Amino acid sequence: MGILVNIHPSMGAPIVDALRALAPDVQVWAHRDEAPATEVEAMLAWSLKPGVLPAYPQLKLLCAPSAGVDKLLAVPDLPVGLPVARTVDPQQHVEIAQYVVGTALRHTRELDLFARQQQAGDWLRRPVRASADCRVGILGLGEVGRFVAGAMQAVGYPVAGWSRSSKSIAGLATHSGAEGLQQLLSTSDILVCALPLTPETRDLLNRRTLSLLPRDAYFINVGRGEQVVEDELLALLDEGHLAGAALDVLREEPPQPGNKVWGHPKAFVTPHIAAQASADTVARQCLENLRRLRAGEPLLNLVDVTRGY
Ligand code: NAP
Repeated sequence: MGILVNIHPSMGAPIVDALRALAPDVQVWAHRDEAPATEVEAMLAWSLKPGVLPAYPQLKLLCAPSAGVDKLLAVPDLPVGLPVARTVDPQQHVEIAQYVVGTALRHTRELDLFARQQQAGDWLRRPVRASADCRVGILGLGEVGRFVAGAMQAVGYPVAGWSRSSKSIAGLATHSGAEGLQQLLSTSDILVCALPLTPETRDLLNRRTLSLLPRDAYFINVGRGEQVVEDELLALLDEGHLAGAALDVLREEPPQPGNKVWGHPKAFVTPHIAAQASADTVARQCLENLRRLRAGEPLLNLVDVTRGY
């Protein structure tokens, strides 16, 4: 019995190496065609085609090598009751916070403008925008959102957040529900999306919701591309309602040639690099859950399959 790493080798090979180095006594298969179907006890996968899961009658644990599980849960024949665990990597939270703080400061401290001034040979001083004038709203107050909130507060921004359930977090204004979303949007000069992709959050950020942001607001997406109706976001940038956007995730990755995000003067686009999962952490968490499964202990980082995250 063992673990099948059912992930493209470009991403899966380092995880296979880490699993083998950490647990030489655990059987690890790097490809489906190597793994005897009745021996697969746990599977690591990012996404799956229909028909794969039912082929493994002894499968007792499905692990995602990522924080988001939207692609994995999209498979239509996920066996009822099969535990699904995600990877929660503190180093990823640090990396995402760096991305958000970096893109926010680039905008509010007008770093692009100063770069242009330097090229033009201009030594022109400008007043620094007061932190209090840059209210930050964070959609999603989970592992990522809470860490990002702390990092943004540490560089002086007043921060509020929005989540599904109501929360009380020291030093943070919190909102929930549809009314809470409206309140958060209308008071966010910088909006950060750190939500999981679920049926409820798909297309959440569209012309109607993004128009609630104050004029000249800036939008940063580190959640998932499908949460944003991109054409409507780009229209709001073109019309001047929004000042700019930093998009680490897009509906189509990579975007096709001709996609309007390429070369858009107000969109800063990065190829889903805000954070990258460490193969070592993915392997450690999968092995720990396999150990717990075998010992009958509660599993870590379980996903609520019906809720979608
Ligand atoms: P998490 O711990 O599960 O937190 C999710 C948060 O979103 C929770 O606060 C949850 O509310 C809130 N939420 C979910 N559905 C909602 C809804 N319908 N309305 C309002 N709030 C809702 O997830 P996480 O670890 O923070 O990760 C969040 C997402 O970040 C991932 O799913 C992934 O898509 C993305 N991510 C991106 C990168 C990257 O490189 N760009 C890297 C890692 C993660 P409750 O607290 O009430 O449950």
